Amino acid sequence: MVDERRVEETLDPENWDDLKVLGHKMVDDMIDHLASVRQRPPVMPINEQMAVAFMKPLPLEPEGIEKAYGDFKGGVLGTHMGLNTHPRFWGWVVGTGTAQGALAEMLATGINFNMPGGPFAPVLMETQVLEWFKGIFGFPRGASGLLVGGGSEANLLGIAVARNTKAGFDVRRMGQAAAPKRMVLYGSTETHVCIDKAVQLLGLGEESFRKIPVGDDYRIKVDALEAEIRKDKAAGLQPFCVVGNAGTTNTGSFDDLEALTDICQREGLWFHVDGAFGAWATIGGNTKPLVKGIDRVDSLAFDLHKWMYMPFDVACTLIRREEDHFKTFAEHPDYFGNAATMKLRTDYGLQVSRYFRSLKVWMGLKEHGLNKYGRLVQQNCDQAQYLAGLIRVSPELELLAPVASNVVCFRYRVPGLPEEALNELNSKVPMMLMGMGVAMISDTRLRGRLALRVCVVNHRSRREDFDLLVGKVREAGAMMLQKMGKG
Ligand SMILES: *Cc1c(COP(=O)(O)O)cnc(C)c1O
Repeated sequence: MVDERRVEETLDPENWDDLKVLGHKMVDDMIDHLASVRQRPPVMPINEQMAVAFMKPLPLEPEGIEKAYGDFKGGVLGTHMGLNTHPRFWGWVVGTGTAQGALAEMLATGINFNMPGGPFAPVLMETQVLEWFKGIFGFPRGASGLLVGGGSEANLLGIAVARNTKAGFDVRRMGQAAAPKRMVLYGSTETHVCIDKAVQLLGLGEESFRKIPVGDDYRIKVDALEAEIRKDKAAGLQPFCVVGNAGTTNTGSFDDLEALTDICQREGLWFHVDGAFGAWATIGGNTKPLVKGIDRVDSLAFDLHKWMYMPFDVACTLIRREEDHFKTFAEHPDYFGNAATMKLRTDYGLQVSRYFRSLKVWMGLKEHGLNKYGRLVQQNCDQAQYLAGLIRVSPELELLAPVASNVVCFRYRVPGLPEEALNELNSKVPMMLMGMGVAMISDTRLRGRLALRVCVVNHRSRREDFDLLVGKVREAGAMMLQKMGKG
C-alpha cells in the first residue's frame, strides 16, 4: 500500500543558490590550501584530539552540508600539512596532483558519467586519450587499452591477457588447473609486489614466478634469465611471460627492454612491462634511452597519478593486439540488453561501473601539453642527480645504488660502525626529518643495508629543497650517533 501522506524526498539541495555559495567557498578554501602548501611542514601526526573527531556516532538525521563541510575543514583540511602535495615529499612513489586536476575531478563527478560504451562524448574522450598513449609509447593502431584505478590493476590486466593468450587452452572455461604443463613467468628480484599478487590471483601460484637476480645496477641479469627459461623448458614446464621493469620502486633502475624483447620473441613468450612511473622516461629529454624498446612490448602498465602528477586514481594498460585483450575479458550477459551488441569498455577489464577518469587526463594534457610533462620528468631526474652530487661530496653520506632516473638511495655513514648499528641509526632518520618538519622520505633495504630513499615525482620540488634535505640528514645522523654513544 502506498502511504499517500508521505512526502516524496530527494537528495537535491533545498536551495541551489545556497549550494553555489558554499561550493564557491569550498573551491576558495581548497585553492588557498594548495597555494600555501610550501609554507607548512610536510607532515604533522594526528593527535588524540584530532582522532576523537572521527569517533562520532552515525548520524541518523540530517546535520546539513554546512556542518559536514565545517567538520571536514576543521578535522581534515585544517590539520593536513601537505603530505604528498608538499614540495619536500619524496617517500615511496606518490604523486602530487594539481589544483587544476582537482577541478577536473569535480567536473567529472558532476557529470557522473557511467556508460559502458556508445556514442557519448566521455567514451570518445577515453578513446582519444588511449590513442594519444598508443602514440606516445609507439604502439600500433591495432592496440587496445583501458584506464584503470592504479598500476596494480593495470599490471594484473596485462598478466591476465598474457596468461590467457599464451596458455594454449581455454583457461576461462577450464581453469588454470587444466594446464597440461605448469605455466611459469619471469621477472627480476626487484619486481613490484603487485606482480606477485597478480600471479596469486590468477591461480598461477608464487612458485611459478621465477625471480631472476639483478646486477650491481639493479637491472635483471639477462644471461641468468635465459638460463632459467632453458632449464624450465628442459624440465617440461611452460614458460609464458617475462615481466620487465621500466623503473623499479627500490632504485629506479630500468631493465634492458630491447634484450628482453629479443629473448621473448626468440622463445615465444609474452613480454609485459611494468612501467608504473618509469614508462614516462619515454617523454623526458635524456631519459629516453632508458626505455629503448618499449614500443615492441606486448603489454605495458603505467600510472598517471605518479610521474604525470595527475590526481588519484588513474592508470592505464596498453595491449599490443586488441583481440588478445578482448578475448580475455569480454562477457555479454542478457541484462546488458542492447548494449551487448557493441564492444564495451567492460570487455577490456574488470569494472562494469566506471567513473569518468579520462577527463582529468585529457584536461591536463590539453592545459600543459606533452612537452611540459616531458620537461618535468627530466627536471625530476636532474634533481635526483643534483642530490646524488651533494651526497658524493658529503663525507658523512654515501650512495647505496646508482642513480638511473629519479630515485636516490643513500645513507648516513660512520666508518667503523657495525652494519647493524648503522641500519639502526639510519632507520630513525625518516621519522626525525618528519619531526623536524623538513621532509618526508621513505626507507628500504638494499642487499641488507638500510637505505634512505628519495623518489622525486614532484613538480613542486626545487633544488634548494635538496640542499635543505642533505643538511638535515647530516644533522639527524649526528644526533642519532650521539644518542647511541650515550645509550
Ligand atoms: C607504484 C608501483 C606499482 C603499483 O602501482 P599503484 O598505482 O600504486 O597500484 C607497480 N609497480 C611499480 C614499479 C610501482 O612503482
